Amino acid sequence: MVLWIGVDDTDSLQGMCTTFLAAEIVRELTEDYDLIGFPRLVRLNPNVPWKTRGNGAICLRFGRGTGRRNLIGELESQPVWSFARAEGVDDPERVQSRIANLVERRSEFREPTTNPGFCILSKQPAATLYWKAVRRIVSKEEALAAVRSPGVLREYKNGRGIIGSLAAAAWRPHDRTYEVLCYRDESRWRTPRLLESGSVRYMDRTFTSTFNNYDYECNRIVIAPHSPCPILFGIRGDDPGVLPSAMRTIKGEPAAGWMVFETNQGTDDHVIPGQAVEPKTTVQVEREVSGRPRSIRGGHVVVELNDLEAAAYEPSKGFRTVVRALRPGDRVRVVGSIRDQPRTLNIEKLQVLSLSEESHKLANPLCFKCQKRAKSMGRKAGFRCARCGQRFPASSAITEHVSRPLEPGWYEPPVGSRRHLSKPLSRRPARSGRLGAA
Ligand code: ATP
Repeated sequence: MVLWIGVDDTDSLQGMCTTFLAAEIVRELTEDYDLIGFPRLVRLNPNVPWKTRGNGAICLRFGRGTGRRNLIGELESQPVWSFARAEGVDDPERVQSRIANLVERRSEFREPTTNPGFCILSKQPAATLYWKAVRRIVSKEEALAAVRSPGVLREYKNGRGIIGSLAAAAWRPHDRTYEVLCYRDESRWRTPRLLESGSVRYMDRTFTSTFNNYDYECNRIVIAPHSPCPILFGIRGDDPGVLPSAMRTIKGEPAAGWMVFETNQGTDDHVIPGQAVEPKTTVQVEREVSGRPRSIRGGHVVVELNDLEAAAYEPSKGFRTVVRALRPGDRVRVVGSIRDQPRTLNIEKLQVLSLSEESHKLANPLCFKCQKRAKSMGRKAGFRCARCGQRFPASSAITEHVSRPLEPGWYEPPVGSRRHLSKPLSRRPARSGRLGAA
């Protein structure tokens, strides 16, 4: 039997990190239990208004391991082993006080927005809880209703953290990725991180199953957080086996330990397919472009998609050029989160499905009788010969085909402005589009 431990909402922007607490729990419980499977870092709905950063929660499994063990980390110079399966029976109550001690010691209780919660269960909560929590807003009652076994449910302050901790424990991966997290030595917390960017670029080119490492467009490292938390860096990838080697190529300050997490990052689990557009969700919809894109204050670009306005915000940098190149009549599939007020779709990535013909007027039509250019009668109203009065339809203007700088395919913002859950195009079998000169 496995003990399912979920923890959430322990950190704040001022410090700490739930994944650091994960390492503390692993250190504490592996004294007399075995870690089963990978520790899990589960990202939930990125549109919840009360998240601190990336809406991440953790799930750890412990028991009496059987079969082969794998090295998945090193903490305080001790190897961290993980077993694929567990046997025997354990009582969730037995570890309650040890988990509570760690949560109480390592949570940022002074922060008004930090509301920790943890669960220890002998059975996973219902899978529907994970799907709802990664895509929509869940109430505490709904989260508690997903519990299917007796166990420990502990809430602090307003207790909201119990939602994420149960949802993390409810995750049954369909798609998954991995992240090796390196921890900083405590003496360096709150000091600038020392990482050599050349070594990050080298790692990025060498380990091709990793992703979102370096933003070549903005020339910056993406693997290191900007907050004062105890994480030095994290490398994401599809193959957990190569992550420790990738980690060792990074030059900079020495890490105090590391652990490989199994995650739902880069899976698009948060995206709701279908045409419905609800606030605080991330959707994938197909639409026709109905107006020319326009730039607004702050460097953002917005485009009308009939009933919906979609925006590429300034941090998406070069991606805005793709959005600016759209023209009325183009058909697109857009993935993005829906803002409440004003109701806008914040584009996470887009697929150009088809491009409309764009042409440029060269001249008015020629009147055959008079050999004179006809005069325009106004927008879309056609033309008339000023001498003989002969009328010509609007379509008779002499035009030139304009070549488009876009081609059908998928486009995404640069590495540095992607969401944790957003599936990078490098993980998709679909064709990427190309943006060229017109
Ligand atoms: P991290 O810093 O680890 O990336 P975060 O700090 O941004 O994550 P939390 O501090 O964990 O986010 O705060 C998110 C809060 O929202 C938690 O209390 C969690 O239980 C709750 N929560 C998460 N997903 C949902 C959801 N879908 N509906 C309602 N509440 C949610």
